[in-house]
Amino acid sequence: MPLDGGLDTKEYAAHGGAVPIHVAGNGSGPVAVAVVSGLKQEEDHRLVVDALRKVIAKQQLAAPRTAGRLSLVKKQLIVFDFDWSLADQDTDRWVHEALAPHLRRRMKSLKPHMQFTDLCAMMLRELHAEGKTPEQIKDAMRALPFHPGMVRGVKALKASKLVDTTFFLLSNSNTVYIDTILTEQGLQPPTGPQIFTEIVTNPARFLPSGLLELKRRVPAPGEPGSREHGCAVGCSANMCKGEELDAFIARHGGRQAFERIIYVGDGGNDFCPVLRLGAQDVAFVRLHRGLQKRILSEGGIQAAIRWWAGAWEMEGLLGELHGVDPTAEPAGRQEH
Ligand SMILES: [Mg+2]
Ligand SMILES: [Zn+2]
Repeated sequence: MPLDGGLDTKEYAAHGGAVPIHVAGNGSGPVAVAVVSGLKQEEDHRLVVDALRKVIAKQQLAAPRTAGRLSLVKKQLIVFDFDWSLADQDTDRWVHEALAPHLRRRMKSLKPHMQFTDLCAMMLRELHAEGKTPEQIKDAMRALPFHPGMVRGVKALKASKLVDTTFFLLSNSNTVYIDTILTEQGLQPPTGPQIFTEIVTNPARFLPSGLLELKRRVPAPGEPGSREHGCAVGCSANMCKGEELDAFIARHGGRQAFERIIYVGDGGNDFCPVLRLGAQDVAFVRLHRGLQKRILSEGGIQAAIRWWAGAWEMEGLLGELHGVDPTAEPAGRQEH
């Protein structure tokens, strides 16, 4: 009668699907075990881990947002989504809100029926047919809400001597909107070193007619270079943000080149890249938007999560990344 752990191997077999539960800061060993059975053992295990991660994400959501200062590292990568993350509005919708509100309403009614970049390109053709000029479109972008605290936070982090931070902008907006806005906000200096090492987004350009021509980052079927990105997490056909993040990291020395990756995002399309972060990384997730919903419903996030709501809060979070205490009063203002 062969024995394994004192049990008869004819009647008992080791099978995955149980996960011990430890309490952080309590060194006395597991306090509970969560067990699932009935699926393949890997799936049993994954079901428990995903459920635990959702519980942890919900606990982090309930915790005070100032809890747990981030540590200082020597070299880090910060990845910014653009709409509702670096910028405090959505470029693709704002252009119509500013210039042709009836097109904004039309865009909303058509959105469920079209790939989003293609829809934006079509709406720009309609905007052009209504006589709106390149200068009007650029003026609308220059007027797009952009928080001064975000500008201060980004510039201070870039200038810090305490940590070497690489900036990467990864967006489903387009090159014309982003270039216009970054220039207006002083985040794209005309000469000298740039803040963002790379900007990956959909290509756009003004044609001689004045039409703003917008294309998908991953060319559509029938266009030169067309392919499918093969994302299984639900990225739209124009771009897989997770794939683009991995490709950026590979172009810049690989994962080991950065002690920590920080991802700043808000939308459901930021879920794919955030899923690819590791336990040493941090996601700065804007509250009450698609990314929060997917994190809480789908789980699987390994990175630590720091939640934020108002863009002003990002100045504090960016400060933590270079050792600045966001709660400190300015010098000379302390109470004595
Ligand atoms: Mg966004
Ligand atoms: Zn993806």
